[in-house]
Amino acid sequence: MILSVIAAIILYVIKRDPLFVILFLLVAIFIDIDHYLLYIFRKNNLNLFKAYYYCRNDVDKEFIKEGKNRILCVFHNIEVFLVLLVLSFFISFFVPIVIGYVFHSIIDIIDERQRKVKKSWSIFYYYRKHIFDAKKA
Ligand SMILES: [Zn+2]
Repeated sequence: MILSVIAAIILYVIKRDPLFVILFLLVAIFIDIDHYLLYIFRKNNLNLFKAYYYCRNDVDKEFIKEGKNRILCVFHNIEVFLVLLVLSFFISFFVPIVIGYVFHSIIDIIDERQRKVKKSWSIFYYYRKHIFDAKKA
């Protein structure tokens, strides 16, 4: 989050467009809301603090126990990125959203290198590997 704020300040110095910077910052920070959605879906609980603890400490262990090495986060994948990218070619409103998305993704990729369980890069890949193939086996 601190890196996103620093990037937003740099963007503001370059662009001088508050809406552009706000959209960038909102996406760069709130894309992680899908971790909270994952917690709600798996634990049937809305406690934000417990969700934070779960995502920081317990989610990897839980997925490893289930034989999974990938987590599906609905906003962290190539499909969402491609939709945003295509929209950004036609609607300029989506340009700062794509930049925020790419910035967030780069930070996540760097942060995720040490984790045993990583985010799935694709919704289709995740379902093929963990749902469809698991049913065949
Ligand atoms: Zn993230």
